[in-house]
Amino acid sequence: MLKVHSRCDLSCDHCYVYQHADQTWRGRPVRMSTATVRAAARRIAEHAREHALPVVHVVLHGGEPLLLGAAGLREVLAELRAAITPWTRLDLRMQTNGVLLDDELCRLLVDEDVQVGVSFDGDRAANDRHRVFAHGGSSHDHVRRALALLRRPEHRASYAGILCTVDVRNDPDRVYEALLAESPPRVDLLLPHATWDNPPPRPGPGSTPYADWLGRVHRRWVDEGRPMSIRLFEALRPGGGGTEAFGLAPADVLVIEADGSWEQVDSLKTAYHGAAGTGFDVFGQSVDEAARHPGVAVRQEGVDGLCATCRACPVVDRCGGGLYAHRWRTGSGFDNPSVYCADLLRLVDSVDAYPRPARQPPAAAPADDLLDDLATGHGSTATLALLAATQLSITRALLVSCRDRGGSPAAWELLVHLDQAAPEAVRAVLEHPFVRPWLVHRLDSSARSGARPAVDPLPALAVAAALRAGVPAAVHVPVRADAITLPTHGGLVLPGLGESAEVTVLRGGFRVRGGSVERTVLLDPVESSAGWRPTRDVSVPGGWLLIEDGDPYRDCYGQPVAPRLADPAARALGRTVAEAWRVVQRDVPAHAATLDGGLRAVVPLTPDPVRPLRSATARHAFGAVAVTPHPDPETMAVLLVHEWQHAKLGAALDLYDLVEPGQGTRIRVPWRPDPRPPEGVLQGVYAHLAVTQVWQSRAASTGGDASAHADRYLSWTRDGVDALLASRSLTAAGERFVGRLRHALEETRVGSR
Ligand code: SF4
Ligand code: SF4
Repeated sequence: MLKVHSRCDLSCDHCYVYQHADQTWRGRPVRMSTATVRAAARRIAEHAREHALPVVHVVLHGGEPLLLGAAGLREVLAELRAAITPWTRLDLRMQTNGVLLDDELCRLLVDEDVQVGVSFDGDRAANDRHRVFAHGGSSHDHVRRALALLRRPEHRASYAGILCTVDVRNDPDRVYEALLAESPPRVDLLLPHATWDNPPPRPGPGSTPYADWLGRVHRRWVDEGRPMSIRLFEALRPGGGGTEAFGLAPADVLVIEADGSWEQVDSLKTAYHGAAGTGFDVFGQSVDEAARHPGVAVRQEGVDGLCATCRACPVVDRCGGGLYAHRWRTGSGFDNPSVYCADLLRLVDSVDAYPRPARQPPAAAPADDLLDDLATGHGSTATLALLAATQLSITRALLVSCRDRGGSPAAWELLVHLDQAAPEAVRAVLEHPFVRPWLVHRLDSSARSGARPAVDPLPALAVAAALRAGVPAAVHVPVRADAITLPTHGGLVLPGLGESAEVTVLRGGFRVRGGSVERTVLLDPVESSAGWRPTRDVSVPGGWLLIEDGDPYRDCYGQPVAPRLADPAARALGRTVAEAWRVVQRDVPAHAATLDGGLRAVVPLTPDPVRPLRSATARHAFGAVAVTPHPDPETMAVLLVHEWQHAKLGAALDLYDLVEPGQGTRIRVPWRPDPRPPEGVLQGVYAHLAVTQVWQSRAASTGGDASAHADRYLSWTRDGVDALLASRSLTAAGERFVGRLRHALEETRVGSR
């Protein structure tokens, strides 16, 4: 964090730089000199080079960094790039109050690829409670104008989000609405800085006003389908990765003050005068020397660096003792829980409790009812739960077969242990849609004489589950094409790993040793280690969905899958899918409820200009659908519904024979020129029935083209069903199922009149 300007054009009364215990700013230069910028840049470059860092994050901070003006900013950025980019990727960010942001500065920030966070506390009353000019005037309009500038399409790439400091006297709904109205890519909600010496204000009778306030925002955010990323809530969920304020990940921020002093995180300024100081500066000491300061070192120790109360706390892995500065008390120093302890404990509870975990399946339906229920066209959530449970059983059975055919005994033992100690972690990994294709691939290859067996999946699955469970372990993992895949986490591509690598699960990450290389990977979603390609997820109304573009076993759709998307493309696809999910909720809520029950991943297919709209499901990959990254949510919604029908029916076909086996029957259908086998027709009519329902819902509100689409799909489905029933290719269960589909179709038709 580079304090490029140490004064500010606002005078916020909650500012920890000027208004709290530390007053060192008074003796510092107003702006960082060119010589200091250059020395700082050299120190960062030296550190990146010595440690072969894949990326360095530099945050331009203040005071107010925009007080440098465009020319000053350009000069700082040029110095940083010249020194650092020969050695590593430079990720540039800025935190600003936005008051001075204008077109010229926005263009500069976009051109220089600087991500900008804006401090903004919500609606006018909330924002102006603290964030005012020295003369007391409002900053609200100025900041909103800055946010509007950043939202413009030509500047949007630099819009990182909003940083909002909570004041429990503000109306949480109005603050939430004000933040949402600015369409931020991400919101950081911060607790106001406080210590045991200077506790936070607690107006009102409640003992946990901050948890209550944040809990209310959390419920609203969940109810509305998580329409924006709120880092606090995402970080607090199990496995959420934490932030500087939460969790046990090692601290990795150092501050360079305007005079070149190395300091610890500047929130410490709230503790006491000089609390953040190290006594070092960039002219005399390196990053490593500054990082050896005891105040920084203790924050590398995870749970061991916390007080006894926190070490014994049931939510310590999520809370991590709160922000370091908030633990301060004269006498015991930082060896205390957070002054927000009661709020944090309650907040973790309320985040867990609302909603009930989306993936907790409802009570499963009796198996006999399953086909009749699916034949309604969508099926119930109980049926989905049963299908998902049987899919998991199949995966478990395949896992046992893999163990019996040369799977690693050590990895098996670890999996068995984890299945008892942390069953949810094992379950989450085994439910990953591409675990079963991997197991099947392994079994197929080991059954073919002379074929080289595919990579043993057991070690990677054991590591993935241990990581989720936070259980230390060391496992030898086979390497395929210089890569290790850890389902649900991501993949590591590291040339030189050799045939097998030792993977040691650490707190919050893992270390890999193989061939000539060693690498430590931390699973913080905003961090990256060279070669580590984390899975990326998106918040959807049903919980979380992976954008799965890295798992090698996703290549099971009979059509080319896209290589890993760049971050902006992955985010764009995530936004479209989340919006499409909401469209499904709007059009056909019963179908949306079944998405909630099992859809876990979306796989991008390679775009094809000749067929821009393609989608697919794979029988072995329940829980995933593959789509071309089409930008229109309305179109994407139809693809999701269509493909999820195939997934449900595929899972049912794992349980029941609906088509007589061994027949060469081919049936003509209206939606394809070539005659189709009976199972293909069955899949077609089941998908088209759902698509008919989508278009009928849209036709009821818009008419026009939607009515024509509804009529076409209705006619296709009816003709397909009739052809199937006439083909004599169905089993008794199949006859009953398709007969009931015919009834559902009639009801659909009547309903649409
Ligand atoms: S804008 Fe930021 S740096 Fe400036 S006074 Fe307000 S809180 Fe402090
Ligand atoms: S909730 Fe309290 S005791 Fe538990 S880790 Fe957080 S600060 Fe420590």
